[in-house]
Amino acid sequence: MLQKAISLLKQTFGFNSFRPLQEKVISAVLDKKDSLVIMPTGGGKSLCYQIPAQVFDGVTLVVSPLISLMKDQVEQLQQFGIPANFLNSSLSPSQYDANISDIRSGKTKLVYLAPETLLQDRIANLLLDGLQIDCITIDEAHCISEWGHDFRPEYRQIAQFRKRFPKAVCVALTATATPAVRQDIINSLELSDSQVFIDSFDRPNLKLNIIPKSQGAQQVVDYIRQNKGKAGIIYCFSRAQVDELTNIINAAGFRALPYHAGLSDKDRNSNQDAFIKDDAEIIVATIAFGMGINKPDVRYVIHFDLPKNIESYYQQIGRAGRDGLPSECVLLYNYGDTKKIEFFIQQKEGQEKELAEFHLKQLLIFIDSYECRRIPLLNYFGETYSKQECKNCDNCLRTDNESQNLTVPAQKFLSCMIRTNEIYGSIYLSDILTGSKSKKILDNRHNELSTYGIGKEFKKEQWKSLSDQLLRKQIILKDEQFGSLKITTDAKPILKGVKEFWGFIPEVSSTTKSNLFSRRTAKEKARSTEYDEVLFQELRTLRKELADKKGIPPFAIFHDSTLAEMCREFPTSHLMMLEISGIGEKKATEYGELFSDIIKSYMKRNNLTPNQPNQKIEIKDSKTPKHLIVSEAFLNGETVKEIAERFDNAESTIIAHLLKFVEQGEYIEPEFIIRETNLEESEISLIKNEFQTSSEGHLKPIFDFFGGKYSYNQLRLVQILLISHLE
Ligand SMILES: [Zn+2]
Repeated sequence: MLQKAISLLKQTFGFNSFRPLQEKVISAVLDKKDSLVIMPTGGGKSLCYQIPAQVFDGVTLVVSPLISLMKDQVEQLQQFGIPANFLNSSLSPSQYDANISDIRSGKTKLVYLAPETLLQDRIANLLLDGLQIDCITIDEAHCISEWGHDFRPEYRQIAQFRKRFPKAVCVALTATATPAVRQDIINSLELSDSQVFIDSFDRPNLKLNIIPKSQGAQQVVDYIRQNKGKAGIIYCFSRAQVDELTNIINAAGFRALPYHAGLSDKDRNSNQDAFIKDDAEIIVATIAFGMGINKPDVRYVIHFDLPKNIESYYQQIGRAGRDGLPSECVLLYNYGDTKKIEFFIQQKEGQEKELAEFHLKQLLIFIDSYECRRIPLLNYFGETYSKQECKNCDNCLRTDNESQNLTVPAQKFLSCMIRTNEIYGSIYLSDILTGSKSKKILDNRHNELSTYGIGKEFKKEQWKSLSDQLLRKQIILKDEQFGSLKITTDAKPILKGVKEFWGFIPEVSSTTKSNLFSRRTAKEKARSTEYDEVLFQELRTLRKELADKKGIPPFAIFHDSTLAEMCREFPTSHLMMLEISGIGEKKATEYGELFSDIIKSYMKRNNLTPNQPNQKIEIKDSKTPKHLIVSEAFLNGETVKEIAERFDNAESTIIAHLLKFVEQGEYIEPEFIIRETNLEESEISLIKNEFQTSSEGHLKPIFDFFGGKYSYNQLRLVQILLISHLE
């Protein structure tokens, strides 16, 4: 039977082999042994029941709380040629009846159901009546436990339903479960002799980054600009914040949509749909977003605010990079956000309050840790990380000069507190340290203190950050009512110099270009050029067109990882298409030719030689298109003149490369281009106007119009400025 499963895997899904744990689970399910499967998102959980479902003669029921996800799941399965269907409250009565008669006909292999549907006697009887049920799958099984973060009372009754189908094997799956939740699932579902399969919770493709929040919204916009065109989710604490941040992002020229409980169902669904179909690149959401989404190519998740606990943090970052490609998770953090959560915890009572306090404490331990982020994160889920360093989190990627001995600045701050009788907050203390001449300081004669002006090495925001770090380490405490800071006993050893204080001082941008996010390593940049990115964009465009025509999300056609492989392997025939992961017979037949046509024409245009099956084309650096190399250098701060000298090209050639870059929809910051033009802003506007009113981008008429006052290079640069900021 396992052989059949393996051939199905290749034939239907286009993969050559199972991941080690998948194979074990599938063998157990095929042997009709009840199983509890704990696998992180992106670990290939769904194949654990989708493959057996095709081997079994009868039907596999999949109970899932994610109503909004069912339609997508079923559509995706149908794209692979697997007969699947669903029953939930989103269907109209006539659709519902149609789906039921389809299921009754015996052709359907997989039926997705909401738990409440399952508990309706009408449905249960209907399913009981003569239909062979071989497998009952319980997805998101942690919903069964009151100890989990998503308890659903309906889930408790699944055990009763299950008893009516003694011959069906039961598979419970979840992506998040602490040891207590696991035990609860086993007890509730009465999985007494079940096998438990636990996969590692590590998601190596996710880069974990925790960054001090200084100018939150600006940091987010900068990040989006650097990741233009990629899909991302931004989580906020409140609805108001979602709306505000969405407006800011849109005003900066990107397409973001809000998602929160204050919107109508219709708006929420249509915003979610636009995101899934790549019509909007960004969703700004409260934590309510994401349960119903299975978009594999989310490239980043930003936490604009602190998540509630580690479990929800893990679940939310888990929405990035489900296709296994490198993706980034950024948590913006400052001390004030902790206070916001503490305030909400204070409103709770009894055990609920204790639990919430415990969760917050665990989260802060994770945030404050200076070791590899994966160590405390995995530890929370009862797993020991096997390495010392992941090389893919802020702590591992931090160079030594970023982690500093801050003992002396801490001493300055603490003694300034003591000298002012511990009645002031961090802003005022920063003013004293940086030597401010504010009226309040002069009135209080604090300009006569020995600590006045001794902290000019940092800006005010940096002193604020140091104060936050002292608070987090409980070296100082804050009076919630007045904001005044008090020292604790832990401050004394630091003041005496017997204990060191280590931390980080965030860079504060004095120019417009914030580099809080630009800690990209050379390695990361190399990784992103491992496939032909220009071809990738062309294939993406085709995928989007096809998806829109069919009204399905682009990833239901091919995942990004499949497109990326095409851009490494250059498949130009049906057989070569079948060699690509994620392409089975049905997809190769349906889409193979359309995609290989684009690949062929791309190869022809770029003089790439046709490829023999199984013989890989190596992408060398020289094949990275010149305009990308040039533009990268320009974005890294080299001037046109410097680049021209380095490549021994004319400056006009370099400018032509930059033009090509922006014509492909890329973005160059205006300051960079304006600097190159050597023109006044008023002159630039004049030229811009002329471009907008005159012929389609021809330079000669514009050159003549100004009587040769501006060079062709200058005109071309203004054109780049225009194109880059059209959106
Ligand atoms: Zn690490």
